[in-house]
Amino acid sequence: MYKSIVIGTGPSGLTAAIYLARANLSPLVIEGPEPGGQLTTTTEVENFPGFPQGIMGPELMDNMRKQAERFGAQFRTGWVNSAELSQRPFKLHLEGGEVLEAETIIISTGASAKYLGIPGERENVGRGVSTCATCDGFFFRGKKIIVVGGGDSAMEEANFLTRFASEVKLVHRREELRASKIMQDRARENAKVAWGLNRTPLEVVAGEKGVTGLKVKNNETGEEEILETDGIFVAIGHTPNTKFLGGQIETDEIGYIKVKPGTSETNIPGVFACGDVQDQRYRQAITAAGSGCMAALDCEKFLEGSSVHDWSKSL
Ligand code: NAP
Repeated sequence: MYKSIVIGTGPSGLTAAIYLARANLSPLVIEGPEPGGQLTTTTEVENFPGFPQGIMGPELMDNMRKQAERFGAQFRTGWVNSAELSQRPFKLHLEGGEVLEAETIIISTGASAKYLGIPGERENVGRGVSTCATCDGFFFRGKKIIVVGGGDSAMEEANFLTRFASEVKLVHRREELRASKIMQDRARENAKVAWGLNRTPLEVVAGEKGVTGLKVKNNETGEEEILETDGIFVAIGHTPNTKFLGGQIETDEIGYIKVKPGTSETNIPGVFACGDVQDQRYRQAITAAGSGCMAALDCEKFLEGSSVHDWSKSL
């Protein structure tokens, strides 16, 4: 049995692992199908403090992993199919039948950006297709960008990207936007934002150097057209990776884990959450890492037998 199992190896899970390992708790870290999380799908990370020249996403994650290993964190690959959280020790059922037991669990399984699922999309991620304006917007200075989506994320990303791009076209499959009025207004008032409403994306068009256009269907005329662009930001929402919890942990209606404000505590004592799986708002590597630190400290104090709240008050 493990004192603590961390599920997920993004910045939050690895930071939690570093802290737990340094506290001599020998955590087991379960690495899923995307080791390192979303940062491994991005190129250069320029906004993680401490790297004035920037650092490549995969290298940053590799460094965090090595740091956790240095202090005794163990890693194993695996996919958690389901969890038994009704009593301690908690049980995690892995694909393949293995069952792991732990006194505490830190859930840092992240959230996955939704993709359109159209031809040319996946193979051009990093070559003009992105799901993160904050990460990749800077690479599109003076270029034309398309943002796909009609929700708050799309409005926010479009506005943000106008700092870099010569033009940002919002492509949405309907006439009406799902975004809140204030976010819509901001986008509409932005002279650099152009609109491609009633357009359903069909295919990402790319050449040797990357993306050159987005083929869409004009839903008013039924005709297909290619919108020229240097980059396509897909902003159609995220899915928090909480399915394996089977409803045992309290989430919001989308599936994001609810934590007690200012802590990493879930509704089940001994189960903590950090990173994007509990954060729909900030979704940054640095905020994820910070919440991973919180989860490890909460977990440590829980194992010591003192309540997290008593401990917090004594700070
Ligand atoms: P969302 O509200 O679910 O919007 C997703 C958008 O993508 C919708 O317009 C949807 O079109 C479109 N879409 C979904 N699947 C698509 C597909 N396969 N092809 C083409 N279009 C597709 O997601 P979100 O914008 O990420 O927002 C999620 C939540 O976070 C919301 O509650 C939002 O308010 C919140 N949020 C808030 C802020 C803020 O306040 N600053 C910023 C970002 C997000 P349809 O409309 O046709 O379904």
